[in-house]
Amino acid sequence: MIPVQGYAGQVVAVLGLGRSGRTAAAALQAGGAVPVVWDDGATAREAAHDAGFNLRDLTRQGAFDDVAALIVSPGIAHLYPAPHPVIAAAWQADVPVDNDIGLFFRSFATADWEAFETTPRVIAVTGSNGKSTTSALIHHILVENGRPAQLAGNIGRGVLDIDPAHDGEVVVLELSSYQTDLARSLTPDVAVWTNLTPDHLDRHGGFGGYFAAKRRLFAEGGPDRAVIGVDETEGRYLANQIGEGRGDDRVIRVSSGQKLVGDGWTVFARKGFLSEYRKGRQVASIDLRGIKGLPGAHNHQNACAAYAASRTLGLGPKGIEAAMQSYGGLPHRSQLIAERDGVAFVNDSKATNVDSAAKALQAFPRIRWICGGLQKDGGLDGLLPHLGTVAKAYVIGREAQGFARQLGAVEAEVCGTMAVAVAQAAAEAQKGETVLLAPAAASFDQYDSFEKRGEDFIACVKAALG
Ligand code: ADP
Repeated sequence: MIPVQGYAGQVVAVLGLGRSGRTAAAALQAGGAVPVVWDDGATAREAAHDAGFNLRDLTRQGAFDDVAALIVSPGIAHLYPAPHPVIAAAWQADVPVDNDIGLFFRSFATADWEAFETTPRVIAVTGSNGKSTTSALIHHILVENGRPAQLAGNIGRGVLDIDPAHDGEVVVLELSSYQTDLARSLTPDVAVWTNLTPDHLDRHGGFGGYFAAKRRLFAEGGPDRAVIGVDETEGRYLANQIGEGRGDDRVIRVSSGQKLVGDGWTVFARKGFLSEYRKGRQVASIDLRGIKGLPGAHNHQNACAAYAASRTLGLGPKGIEAAMQSYGGLPHRSQLIAERDGVAFVNDSKATNVDSAAKALQAFPRIRWICGGLQKDGGLDGLLPHLGTVAKAYVIGREAQGFARQLGAVEAEVCGTMAVAVAQAAAEAQKGETVLLAPAAASFDQYDSFEKRGEDFIACVKAALG
């Protein structure tokens, strides 16, 4: 636990009592603050009360009279589509609104760091896709190279739940746009931008708001190094804006597909090879093609970002390469479940938006594609240029019929459930093909989470293979 600094003896309100809210309340208490907590749901309130927290109805008049700050969970809308009434009330009462990430950055460094030989560092990763993979890969590389490291944020442990730093420790944080939008302190040593494509637009008032939310990670604290994916306009804009000009190696530009040379520092992957260039010269290269845990050009983008972040900490290319070879991948992201008679079964349940599904469809040569679910804003048109690898689509979800209609010329069968889709795809798959779950949609019409959907896929594959 990281005790929260700066609020000793003061009342701090916490809204939302899921994992991050409960941890924030405990960390505030550990730092000497007096948390008062609230949640719209009675069950969450009762659980918090039973755990010994003081409940306060933050919706009542005067609830903020003695409150120093309001800490909000990422699941609660703070601006769009409309601010939660409790957040609006905090603004009205002039009470600063923050979240657990802001509390973490103001509390992580402690006086005993003076005695450390190597100051602990924080690497923060944001972007639309690849955050978890990049964060987990950086963490794996650090651990394999003997650096003490912890993984936190959206992946691993809650950010205030981690252990206080050891000498030389590196904390790798995965941060979502909700988290970067609201945090009042955002001061990582190294900030990583994977890519940007539309997602969560309802919560950010559109694409511009979504970009602005993520960009705060680079603007607020001024990281020592910024690793930036420049395959979209926004990344190029950001890299240009942060850099002081030609050859400024505080910015490391990353690409999957483009050769990036120039006076600066770049890392890019082309045709399965990662290259690092500094001042116009190639300084290292890695063959990524045989790395099982990182298939496809999208994972090569993650590999480049993780490589660059690791290099900023002084790790050598050989040590990084060896660690990449042993990276096992994360569940539900390009996860190889089984291989039978030359047919691979891959679980990419985390492909909840059009871009991540499009990337998955480019990672395998011929695909029996299981897709569908709760469709996101923006439609499926973004998928159409990437359906060339699809032998047939097997559509699941409550709106399967409507989903199938949007898939253009691809043969699509409305299966409805995962069990039907997997059985059908497994029966029809030919040698050399991949049965791929990459839904391009959220799971909530049929499952509690993308994890549950992926687990169901795995169970259905096992059943189909007998
Ligand atoms: P995030 O944490 O940003 O959601 P994940 O690593 O969990 O990212 O991957 C989410 C989904 O996006 C998965 O389906 C994965 O296969 C796909 N993906 C991973 N890396 C990338 C990338 N660099 N670009 C596009 N899609 C990606």
